[in-house]
Amino acid sequence: MKKLVASLSAGALVLAGLSTSAAAKPLSSQSPPVKTPTAIGYGGAVSSVDADATAAGLGVLRRGGNAVDAAVATAAALGVTEPYSAGIGGGGYFVYYSAKNHKVYTIDGRETAPAAMPSDAFIDPATGKPYNFTPELVTSGVSVGVPGTLATWDSALRQWGSLSLGKALTPAAELADRGFVVDSTFNLQTQENKARFSAIVPTAKLFLPGGDAPKVGTVFRNPELADTYRMLGKEGLSTFYGGALGAEMTAVVKNPPKTATTTLPVMPGYMTTADLKKYKPLDRVPTKVRYDGLNVYGMAPSSSGGTTVGEALNILQPKHLKQLSTPDYLHNYLEASALAFADRAAYVGDPAFVDVPTKELTSRGFGAERSCQINPAKAAVKPVPAGSPDGKYHHCAKGAATTQRPDTEGKSTTHLVTADKWGNVVSYTLTIEQTGGSGITVPGRGFILNNELTDFSAVYDPADPNRIQPGKRPRSSISPTIVLRGDKPLLALGSPGGSTIITTVLQTLTNRLDRGMTLPEAIAAPRASQRNTASVTAEQSFIDKYGAALATYGHTFTPAGAPGSSAAEIGALEGLEFLPGGAILAAAEPTRRGGGSAGVVWPR
Ligand code: GLU
Repeated sequence: MKKLVASLSAGALVLAGLSTSAAAKPLSSQSPPVKTPTAIGYGGAVSSVDADATAAGLGVLRRGGNAVDAAVATAAALGVTEPYSAGIGGGGYFVYYSAKNHKVYTIDGRETAPAAMPSDAFIDPATGKPYNFTPELVTSGVSVGVPGTLATWDSALRQWGSLSLGKALTPAAELADRGFVVDSTFNLQTQENKARFSAIVPTAKLFLPGGDAPKVGTVFRNPELADTYRMLGKEGLSTFYGGALGAEMTAVVKNPPKTATTTLPVMPGYMTTADLKKYKPLDRVPTKVRYDGLNVYGMAPSSSGGTTVGEALNILQPKHLKQLSTPDYLHNYLEASALAFADRAAYVGDPAFVDVPTKELTSRGFGAERSCQINPAKAAVKPVPAGSPDGKYHHCAKGAATTQRPDTEGKSTTHLVTADKWGNVVSYTLTIEQTGGSGITVPGRGFILNNELTDFSAVYDPADPNRIQPGKRPRSSISPTIVLRGDKPLLALGSPGGSTIITTVLQTLTNRLDRGMTLPEAIAAPRASQRNTASVTAEQSFIDKYGAALATYGHTFTPAGAPGSSAAEIGALEGLEFLPGGAILAAAEPTRRGGGSAGVVWPR
């Protein structure tokens, strides 16, 4: 429905002889498409945060494409409709289950620090202290890492897809030309970034047409991105990774085109065409833990998602969550998260630079040792110390003291899941870090560059696995997950939300696997996130429902964000469940981020 409306509007613009440059056109007000958060059926499925993106993926499946083709098509469409969360200016992590050999594969498409990035890149020489994080550091060339998303799409398609890159990008190019109806989420995200976007000439031009956020109900078109997708389809990766488009990207990072009126410094960054030429997406062995007889696969470092979700599940395994009261369950969930986050901070970084004990962090023995630290009646004083994943496990060994570092990860990003009629499954999270990334749009190309490098710790500490180093990938929290029963898929899920991604995935998994909730119920349930801090960050609905009961254990709560702001919500999880008899349940967020969109090829 929305598609038809949008294409009529685009046609109307042309007939009226109006400029077709990127802009939201305030013609008649239109309704954003109705989103369906749950669908059940056969022949394949897609769940994403956006109805047009889900439709793009389903279209590919209907035309005979597989789950990988559909994932790339959906992701490229999200680059159009969720340009502040995803796109070729960013990076991500792609997890794939192959029905042919029943194995799980992953691609690390994380952004990478330029070769010239100094270890004190985030320190203001004028003060000797870190730059103010947002908007100053975030909105800068300094924060831009070498993007990995396009190379990830290409690698996934070459290894497991059936479409060429050009074919997989075609639905998104058409969508960018046709435009989408602005909804309140897109409008709010633009409003919240107005000061940053108005600091950069091409960003203000594209995303603040007429000086303001596109109005709800108008059609937002991005023909420059459509042309970029078509060019990439024709020319392949070389123009981006070191060619003409790469040169445009490095020029804008080196010399961000500031508007005359802004007071933001918009510092220049370090990325060069040599960095772009060198970039490679990396095939990695997934993390794997056994939980309740199931095999839970996740993303290995450079993301901390797989090790931290996996460790927390190992901590929770001996607690038998099925048998607990709801407050006891939530108490254990919060305490396990804190312990796993202590180990994440102490041990996880890019394995090319840091010796990460991935196997030990996800081992049953280490989980049992950490599990013993949980007092069933009393919340531990936070931060809790990290443990010793050294292969020698003693019942109840105490951890050693650890340094807590500030958590500045953004809360943007987007997750999608796809499955096809052959049984292949994709769980893919992609990001440009903060909502709106670095705020730097590549002029005339229709996409924003990431600020992923701000996921590094701001202050250099040689003991910190996530310290800045040239050529390194900043530690991520992205947690695309696939759960197998035996060697067959049971669940696929993931979420945005910076470091809360980990707790959102963990909470949803335990809600579903241990607490008798259906997948849609598990997704809708109020969320809390304990990341080894004195107070638990939680949605107001969680505090209202469970705050008093959990206070008796000593837990205290802080609302995630001001009511009505994007920050008030934790995550936006998208998932699939593979039901007995071969049907697929596609489930999206019912309300967060304006609600997601789930669809199947043949509805039941
Ligand atoms: N940069 C974050 C990460 O990689 C993701 C940002 C987000 O979810 O908003 O963990």
